[in-house]
Amino acid sequence: MAPNQHVDIAIVGGGVMGAAIAYFLAQRGAKPLVIEGTEVAHGASGKAAGLLSPGLPHDDDDGGMLAPLLARSISLHGALAELLDGPETYDYRRYETCLVARDEAEVDHLHGRAEALSAEPVATADIPARFPWLDQPVAGGLAQGTAQIDPAKFTNRLLESARSMGASLRTGRAVGLVGGEDYVDGVELADGIVTAEQTVIALGPWSLRSAAWLDLPVPVRPLKGQILHLEATAEPPPGGFSDLDGHYVVTRPTGLVFAGTTEEEVGFDQEPTEAARDYVLETLARYTSRLGAMRVVNQTACLRPVSGDGLPIIGPAPGRRGAYLATGHGRKGIILSLATAEALVELLTEGRSTEVDLAPFDPARFGGDQ
Ligand SMILES: Cc1cc2nc3c(=O)[nH]c(=O)nc-3n(C[C@H](O)[C@H](O)[C@H](O)COP(=O)(O)OP(=O)(O)OC[C@H]3O[C@@H](n4cnc5c(N)ncnc54)[C@H](O)[C@@H]3O)c2cc1C
Repeated sequence: MAPNQHVDIAIVGGGVMGAAIAYFLAQRGAKPLVIEGTEVAHGASGKAAGLLSPGLPHDDDDGGMLAPLLARSISLHGALAELLDGPETYDYRRYETCLVARDEAEVDHLHGRAEALSAEPVATADIPARFPWLDQPVAGGLAQGTAQIDPAKFTNRLLESARSMGASLRTGRAVGLVGGEDYVDGVELADGIVTAEQTVIALGPWSLRSAAWLDLPVPVRPLKGQILHLEATAEPPPGGFSDLDGHYVVTRPTGLVFAGTTEEEVGFDQEPTEAARDYVLETLARYTSRLGAMRVVNQTACLRPVSGDGLPIIGPAPGRRGAYLATGHGRKGIILSLATAEALVELLTEGRSTEVDLAPFDPARFGGDQ
C-alpha cells in the first residue's frame, strides 16, 4: 500500500492535458501532483497523429466557438517549440499540407474557409507538382502551412519539464474522489488517498467515470481512431494532405508515413483491426497510389474524448468546490492542450482566465447544481 499524501493540486490523468496543466502550474511556482493509472501518454496522447492543423476535419461543427482557443494554442505551440527545443525533443516540424476537395461543392466550401484556415487556394493543375503525394485527380485544394509533433514525446517532454520545476508524478489508478456533498478535497486511488486543495480531472474519455464520482453529468464518450505507420523503400514525398472527412497522410521527420484514420463508436475497445487497415488504405487510394508500394509496419488504435456537444469541457465542476474538469477535446486535443492548460491554470491560480474566454466550455452547461 502506497502512503497517503497531501498536495496543493492533484491532476488525475497523465495524457497531454494533465501534462500541459502540470507544466503551466509548475511554471508559476506550484508543485502539482500528476496521477496516472498506467504510464504517461498511455492513451490517445501517445498515439495521435500530432497534426497541429487548425481547422479540419469537421471544422464547421463548433460554430466558430473553438477559434480563439485554437489560435492561442497554435501560437503557444510555436513559442514552446523554441523554449523546449521542440524540433530536437519532440519532432516539432513545420510542413505544408494540402486540404483536398473531392468535388466542386467542396472546392467552394474550402475556398470560402481559406482565410479562417490560414490557407491559400492552389490551382488544380498545380496540385500534383506542389504536393507529390496527390497523384490521383482531385477537384481542388488549399495549401496550408502547419506543423506536426510526436505527441508521445511532447507529452513526456511537458511532464519532464514540469517535474524539473517541482511537479511530481504518482502511478496509481483513481477509483473515486474524496470530499463531501458540495466539495472535493482529493482523490481516492486503488492504493491510497491523495488529499488536495484543488483536484483537476483530465482523464480523456475515462473522464466519463468522474460523473459517478461527482454525481454530475460529464458527457464524454470514446471515439476510436486507427492510424497506419508505413515504411517506403525510397524516400517518401514530403508534406501531406487531408480531406474534409479527416482522412490524411503525413510524412514524419523519421521518414515513416502516417495514414489515417477511422471514427468508430465501439466503446472503450482499443484493438487495431484489419477492417480499419483496409478502410484507411482504400479511402486514401482515391488520392494517392503511393501507399500501395509501402509496407505497413505498425497500426495503432486509441480513443478521442468527445463531449456531448462537441466542445471541450474546461472549468470548475458545478457545485463541487475544489474540483475542475479538462476533457472532451475530441479530435483536436494535442493542438488544444496548451491554451486549455494556460487558461485553466489562470483559473486555478487567479480565479479567472484572461487569454481566452472559457465560458463556452463551462462544465455547468450540461446541468448540475450550482
Ligand atoms: C487516431 C487519432 C488521431 C488523433 N490525431 C490528432 C491530431 O493530429 N491532432 C490533435 O490535436 N489531436 C489528435 N487526436 C486527439 C487527441 O489525441 C486527444 O484529444 C488527446 O490526446 C486527449 O488527451 P487527454 O489528456 O485529454 O486524454 P488521454 O490521452 O486519453 O489521457 C488520459 C490519461 O488518463 C489515464 N487514466 C485513465 N483512467 C485512469 C484512472 N482511473 N486513474 C488514473 N489515470 C487514468 C490514461 O492512462 C491516460 O494516460 C487524435 C486522436 C486519435 C484517436
